[in-house]
Amino acid sequence: MDLELSAEQKLIQETARRFARSELDPVAARLDRTDDRDAFLGNLKKLASLGFMGLTVAEEYGGVQAGTVAFSIALTEIARACASTAVTVSVNNLVCEVIQAVGSEEQKKTYIPKICSGEYAAGSFALTESGAGSDPASMTTSARQDGDAWVLNGSKMFITSAPYAGVFVVWAVTDKAASKGKGISCFLVEAGTKGLTVGKAEEKMGQHASATHEVVFEECRIPRDALMGKPNSGLRVATAELAGGRIGIGSLALGVGLAAMDYAARYAQERVQFNQKIANFQAIQWMIADSYTELEAARLLLMNASYRKDQKKPFAKEASMAKMYASEAANRACYAALQMAGGYGYSKDFPLERYARDVRVTTIYEGTSEIQRMIIAREILKGFA
Ligand SMILES: Cc1cc2nc3c(=O)[nH]c(=O)nc-3n(C[C@H](O)[C@H](O)[C@H](O)COP(=O)(O)OP(=O)(O)OC[C@H]3O[C@@H](n4cnc5c(N)ncnc54)[C@H](O)[C@@H]3O)c2cc1C
Repeated sequence: MDLELSAEQKLIQETARRFARSELDPVAARLDRTDDRDAFLGNLKKLASLGFMGLTVAEEYGGVQAGTVAFSIALTEIARACASTAVTVSVNNLVCEVIQAVGSEEQKKTYIPKICSGEYAAGSFALTESGAGSDPASMTTSARQDGDAWVLNGSKMFITSAPYAGVFVVWAVTDKAASKGKGISCFLVEAGTKGLTVGKAEEKMGQHASATHEVVFEECRIPRDALMGKPNSGLRVATAELAGGRIGIGSLALGVGLAAMDYAARYAQERVQFNQKIANFQAIQWMIADSYTELEAARLLLMNASYRKDQKKPFAKEASMAKMYASEAANRACYAALQMAGGYGYSKDFPLERYARDVRVTTIYEGTSEIQRMIIAREILKGFA
């Protein structure tokens, strides 16, 4: 067993860390409070030029092909500075992986290089609807064939990057008569297509710089060859690819948790109460010990899931374990870090309240903790049936 990173992985980690410290960290607090989209998109473009939009993508489609372990550690470094940037990188990677997995050769050559190179600021993954979150099989957005086109109708909810995405991967019902979940297909829809409207922006608790919008389809005509993969087998694609996405979200959560704890540990060495630094108090030491231990456990779960994915072994259960544990451990770490800084932790002069807000959603999106537990238990119970 070798838990050491390879020379290439260390280089990617170091490059991500340097970029996060020099470019993301200085603007993260401002981007949380003001809508400076140009600065946000400018950083995404720089990340694309460094190869971070295509870490798991094959070289022939413009990626770096560095693997999932490299992707996970890079995302953690990016999230230490800016969770909004990290979620955008994670969703871009997810969109590329869906196209890479089930797109035609033409679709792969047309769209993936544009996301990897930064020509498209982002790609969007449009699965969730107002009535279909944890249960995407209950979606109602539909696609019907009309001559040489598909016509989409319906609306998607909570779609990350929608206003600046160049392309959307969209799921829609293509066979209403099929049993639940068996009549859903997956499509590629270019931004600017007539009938596609980016709707209302969500006002969120955190991750403010990352845009989250409704996306509406009204008689939206797309070419017949915009279908990806086999008709009516789209839900399986979403489920399979979301397992990879969960490694991204767990890695993001880990980065925010580490940022919060590092800040609080440094503060504990400086803050004096009762004539001594608060780091001398056992109550503070235990928060540090528990949080760093849990974050280290999260890191190892993420490495395990990433390694299995890279080795082409089954990894869905491990990805769910890693996402569930990392997101919950990171939430606990952010809570403890804020507590360690007392009233200052609650103040916007410190970054701890931003970390606590930014990390909250990681137990919710790309499958809630409850759904991860369902997946994990289902996989384990198969072994006892
Ligand atoms: C900031 C943000 C960005 C997002 N980005 C995207 C995106 O880019 N693309 C996209 O498609 N979606 C996106 N989402 C949607 C996200 O994936 C969903 O919010 C999530 O899957 C949960 O769905 P829901 O919000 O409808 O909650 P619900 O499914 O309504 O769940 C409500 C509660 O019920 C629980 N629950 C539901 N079913 C069960 C069950 N069977 N057993 C036990 N408990 C259950 C849940 O765990 C939760 O606690 C985003 C969401 C947010 C907040």
